[in-house]
Amino acid sequence: MRYENYINGQWIEPSLGGYVDNLNPHNQKALDQFPASTPEDINLATAAAKEAFTTWSKLSYQQRGEYLLKAADFLSEKVEDIARDLTSEEGKTLPEAIGETNRAIRVLHYYSGEATQSVGDIIPSVNPKTMIYTKRVPIGPVGLITPWNFPIAIPAWKIAPALVYGNTVVIKPSEFTPKSAYHLIDALHQAGVPAGVVNCVFGVGGDIGAELVDSPDIKAISFTGSNKIGNVIKQRATILGKSVQLEMGGKNPLIVLNDANIDKAVAFSIQDGFMSTGQKCTAASRLIVEAGIYDEFCRRLLDQTNSLKVGNPLDEGTYMGPVVSARQYESVLTMIEQGKKEARLLAGGNEINTPDLKEGFYVQPTVFEVDSQSVEIARKEIFGPVVMLLKVNSFDEAVELANDTSYGLSAAIFTNNLTLSQRFVDEVEAGMVHVNSGTVGTEFQAPFGGMKSSSDGPREQGKTSIDFYTKMKTVYMD
Ligand code: NAD
Repeated sequence: MRYENYINGQWIEPSLGGYVDNLNPHNQKALDQFPASTPEDINLATAAAKEAFTTWSKLSYQQRGEYLLKAADFLSEKVEDIARDLTSEEGKTLPEAIGETNRAIRVLHYYSGEATQSVGDIIPSVNPKTMIYTKRVPIGPVGLITPWNFPIAIPAWKIAPALVYGNTVVIKPSEFTPKSAYHLIDALHQAGVPAGVVNCVFGVGGDIGAELVDSPDIKAISFTGSNKIGNVIKQRATILGKSVQLEMGGKNPLIVLNDANIDKAVAFSIQDGFMSTGQKCTAASRLIVEAGIYDEFCRRLLDQTNSLKVGNPLDEGTYMGPVVSARQYESVLTMIEQGKKEARLLAGGNEINTPDLKEGFYVQPTVFEVDSQSVEIARKEIFGPVVMLLKVNSFDEAVELANDTSYGLSAAIFTNNLTLSQRFVDEVEAGMVHVNSGTVGTEFQAPFGGMKSSSDGPREQGKTSIDFYTKMKTVYMD
């Protein structure tokens, strides 16, 4: 089936009429076709968003929030169908895709609820007759650029706050997972969101991303994706004086101290390293383990890694599906080959060529043992099912290694020592810190984001979304 862009309340063909196949990473077969849009399509969408802003921004918060609730209802009616589409185009397992779709629904509920929350302060003045208060105003039409690894949840957690706070939107979803974004946009359309308030242009980032960032109609850009593209966007947006919110890569450490609950530490290491085929920005990729527990931890980790069921992500019981695309497949296999030169391979280390999986982008869950963090595989984000083990002799050494990275998204420690837990919270350079739970696992009502090169701009999700999607006015009323 062929899908269209959504511009000014209509599903319309791309200006030059080009389409690309949306491929299933399990077998490389075409699932459907989506527009290969051009800058002209972006211009139509940004013009529509600009036009709609005047009316949309004047609605009450609650009027805007109602549309989110209705869209959530439409999504709720077909969670299983949406999740099957998500799994088919992205490769995460069906239970994970159901979880992600439900999260998108909860995010819409949450931000419709934010429409009834306080959005300002009253501040005492020196003058008894003056009331000082703050109020929030929307920024205008915003550009949203999203990746493939959470193809419905990330669009939801950008679109929902953007809309409830009074902005209009042009979204460019990842070219690798357009159908998941389509479902969200269709739900907003079914909910009756006025024409031009939400616009969605499908296509390749390199073809149309710059046009969206550069558009004079677009006042701010929220981007989630790689550091390479995020940095390009930041430079361009900064020159143009636009606000940016960037959520980018990670190389997240998970520390296991000698006194840790080993069952829990191993379970989270497996889950955070290999679920979603390791393709989470918060995935645990560096397992930093204290010497006294190292051998036992290693033995259990390898046993469990070697028994993970890799296969068609739609099949019941599959733990890990394929990586998302040919590009990602090559990139992960190249890093694994690099790892074989500079580290000890303990598990996996190859593509999977069994008859049932050989057409897909399947990689074995892979574990390396690394002596020094100077090696490339310990420094670069791999974004695939590859974890590395590092042995340390103390808490201090563990934290030093954890921080020895340009990234700072998420970090975890497993220990029963309260003092060291608190020191870890204080000393680790990460935007999200977990004690006795894995690096993955965030909740939409809490701020999400990292330190160092992982993030830039105000935090996403939770109440902090308001800081990106609005500007503040301070009012002196006499
Ligand atoms: P990517 O940077 O290749 O693409 C992200 C988006 O940018 C896509 O929609 C793409 O089409 C678009 N794009 C590509 N070139 C562009 C250009 N020149 N101008 C404007 N847009 C352009 O990233 P990806 O491969 O889709 O996603 C994987 C990356 O995303 C990983 O690095 C991962 O860590 C990161 N990520 C971060 C978070 C987070 O919240 N920190 C969450 C998920 C994924």
